[in-house]
Amino acid sequence: MTAPDNTSYLWTAPASYAENQHIRAWWSEPQDQVLARLIEQYAWLYPWHISEAIVAVTPEDVIAAWREEDPVCQRYAWYDVLMYFGVARARTTGLEQAMRPPETLNCLRCKKAFRQDQVGASTARKLGDISNIRYCQDCSGAAFAGGSDLDDLKLSDADIADWVRDVATLTGLIPPQDFFGGDFLKTVSGDVARSQLLSLAARRPTAKRIKDSFGSWLNLLTVSGVLPDGAHHTVRGVRSVAADGHVCLSLPERTIDDWLSVRG
Ligand SMILES: [Zn+2]
Repeated sequence: MTAPDNTSYLWTAPASYAENQHIRAWWSEPQDQVLARLIEQYAWLYPWHISEAIVAVTPEDVIAAWREEDPVCQRYAWYDVLMYFGVARARTTGLEQAMRPPETLNCLRCKKAFRQDQVGASTARKLGDISNIRYCQDCSGAAFAGGSDLDDLKLSDADIADWVRDVATLTGLIPPQDFFGGDFLKTVSGDVARSQLLSLAARRPTAKRIKDSFGSWLNLLTVSGVLPDGAHHTVRGVRSVAADGHVCLSLPERTIDDWLSVRG
């Protein structure tokens, strides 16, 4: 079996894979229900989720015994064997017929036409739900990968201060340094804001550049005016994101949240 190329969103899996008797010995209705649910939820991306979801509904000792006795598991990773079986099973039982095909859309950022399945699986996962795959691979990939050292050279310090101000204004948050390493798209709603945030993510400066130019992230926040000056007095009503992702309504709350997170 091979992953689909850009012209076919269906994986190719020989029907014979579905005849693996070592798996069929324990595979029954709950496992088929899992396949149906994954196809509904993830459409053409469902194969990537099969192994984990099947393991979750199958007793641990059953999986362990199968891995031990199935000779195919001696040659290939067991989770791949399970995925291959699942795809062949979904196809031969007709479960795959319920799959929503990928749509051809115009990317919300660059406006170019793309087909949803041309967005890679890991990028698609970061975008969230299938219905959020409305950015092409280039646009979303760039946003998640982040800026490069090369791009850093084109940015002036003023550009970087503008950039962090834009992030704060758009999200209403005081962004932590690792903001774009997390689930940042969830901090805004609406296509316009999401597109703007992806653009800001794509041209974020590197940690090294921020250190070189500003000394620290905190100092960048202060210099750019995102953090009100004078850290010694209480700043009420300023929203920020704590290290654990909680949105805090004030900096003291943020401090307490971080303190609690660090101590588990
Ligand atoms: Zn695009």
